[in-house]
Amino acid sequence: MNHERLNPEKKDILIIDDTPDNLRVLSSLLTKQGYNVRKALNWQMALIACQTVLPDLILLDIMMPEVDGYEICQRLKSQESTNDIPVIFISALDDVFDKVKAFAVGGVDYITKPFEFEEVLIRIKNQLSLISARQEILELNTQLEIRVRERTFELEKTLHKLQQEINERQHLQNKLLDIVLHDSLTGLPNRVLFIKRLDKALTRAKQEQNYQFAVLFLDCDRFKVVNDSLGHLVGDELLVAIARRLQQFISPFDTLARFSGDEFAILLENITDIKMVTKIADDILKQLYLAFPLSRYEVFMNASIGIILGNKDYEKSEFLLRDADTAMYRAKAMGRARYHVFDPIMHQEALKLLELENDLRRAVERQEFIICYQPIINIKNRDIAGFEALIRWQHPTRGIVPPADFLPVAEETGLMNQINFWVLQSVCETLCQWQKYPEIKQKLKVSVNLSPKIFLQTNFLAKVDQILHDTQVDPRSLDLEITESALMENSDSVKTILKELQARQIKLIMDDFGTGYSSLSYLHSFPMDALKIDKSFVLRMLENQQSLGLVSAMINIAHSMGMGAIAEGVETQEQLAQLQKLNCDFAQGFLFSVAIAPELALDLLLSAPQW
Ligand code: C2E
Ligand code: CA
Ligand code: CA
Repeated sequence: MNHERLNPEKKDILIIDDTPDNLRVLSSLLTKQGYNVRKALNWQMALIACQTVLPDLILLDIMMPEVDGYEICQRLKSQESTNDIPVIFISALDDVFDKVKAFAVGGVDYITKPFEFEEVLIRIKNQLSLISARQEILELNTQLEIRVRERTFELEKTLHKLQQEINERQHLQNKLLDIVLHDSLTGLPNRVLFIKRLDKALTRAKQEQNYQFAVLFLDCDRFKVVNDSLGHLVGDELLVAIARRLQQFISPFDTLARFSGDEFAILLENITDIKMVTKIADDILKQLYLAFPLSRYEVFMNASIGIILGNKDYEKSEFLLRDADTAMYRAKAMGRARYHVFDPIMHQEALKLLELENDLRRAVERQEFIICYQPIINIKNRDIAGFEALIRWQHPTRGIVPPADFLPVAEETGLMNQINFWVLQSVCETLCQWQKYPEIKQKLKVSVNLSPKIFLQTNFLAKVDQILHDTQVDPRSLDLEITESALMENSDSVKTILKELQARQIKLIMDDFGTGYSSLSYLHSFPMDALKIDKSFVLRMLENQQSLGLVSAMINIAHSMGMGAIAEGVETQEQLAQLQKLNCDFAQGFLFSVAIAPELALDLLLSAPQW
């Protein structure tokens, strides 16, 4: 049934009353006031009226035959369609009117006959405005609900978008974290992640008595050679191949990390004893020993491994790593391609080394070095032909320290060049003073050892020129001793420098000849003036025919290439006699003299001895 209102502007009032007079009076009053008024004389009519159009308000007479006002009100209230319509009861003043009952059955107000018009209008208006207020509230409520629903939907949409963004960010973050914690070349965990895991292992060791872990620190022995000779791409390929081989030894509990360059570290967890660890190290070394078939080359590699067994007494994982590193260096020092297990004495030695480094820095500042001179004898006429300048360190507490004990450290800490230039400068100064003595032959020579790395110093030649200029030394009196490794490390630029030195009339001697790897090929392309046969060959030359043959061959090589031959480490007359037989030009060694202080060297020179 359609419950549309007649005129939405005009309020519709239904008067239910069996008294036509009442109906008329009320009706005309209300119609004048602009209401739409309908009339019903009893329940049936009222019902039909409501079914046609729902009134906005009902005026209901209480006293009616058959169905009275209370009953009608109750019926209206019990129907869903009409139960909201406000009912105002009409009662006569003399009626027995039960107000309580009227409200109880659902009436909202009452008016009494005879009608006080003003009052009737106010009561009707009140009820109507109550209705419209209620309706407004209802409408507002629905609007609110709609808006809430809309907002909720929007909110949900935004939330969904936000969640998506959060997910994307999380994904990106994970990806970034992955990049930050992994090595891009091999995909292995990097140093940062390794240290995190090591921290965890150390913490666990402190909590669980039975938990044991170990660190293997691995450094490739020949990687630099591969990288320098075959290029970085091959180097990278090799690193990836090494990583793959190492992965075979790693269980899901363990961590294999690329630490830097050609360094790898392995954290082994849940191990039982050191034997288990050294077995793994052994297996790794065996695997690395096999050729690496890369895309264009087949490459061979070795590694040195330092091992440290985890120990809950370590305060920080850094210290564990430090000791693994120390053990690795020990493995290298012991001949490479091996492993070494750390023991605490090594740490003491490492500390000593650190102390030495500090001392050495101070020594450079305070010039605690002296130069000793070892004579070099002309084998044919047994005169002094010259000296080799050899550095010593006059340590404030340790006394004289030989070069082998501090030069490697100087080399590593970058102090070597400074020391080397100082030697060159002092030697030139001393040489100049000696040359002032008329009895000293102008032919006298002093040779100075050069560290291989000094050629990498960009202003090397300028520095040499400066020293030559400052001391005014005759460059023909200066020899420079160079080892093969200097030539191998940077051949082209070194070749240019050597030519420049020779242009200044400085003579070049290849030192420690025979101990390098590719002597002949290098000799051929580098312009040397003499070869110094290493003392290891001279000391053994009389042991057997083979050793003698070697020395003989070296002298022949020198001569056939137009170079002089110097034998160092000559300790006996027999050796000297043999060298003379072999036509060696010069000799140097304890047979003649150890390296002596400059004053003694000058005395020796002035006494012009003959051996
Ligand atoms: P090197 O250039 O091979 O020097 C020869 C070494 O052999 C010297 O040791 C010398 O004292 C020692 N020697 C001389 N005669 C004999 C002998 O008959 N028998 C034996 N067994 N040894 C003998 P030193 O002075 O301890 O120098 C060791 C190394 O330190 C040198 O080896 C050289 O490589 C380096 N060195 C010394 N002074 C300098 C320097 O001023 N600059 C640079 N760059 N290196 C230096
Ligand atoms: Ca030398
Ligand atoms: Ca030597």
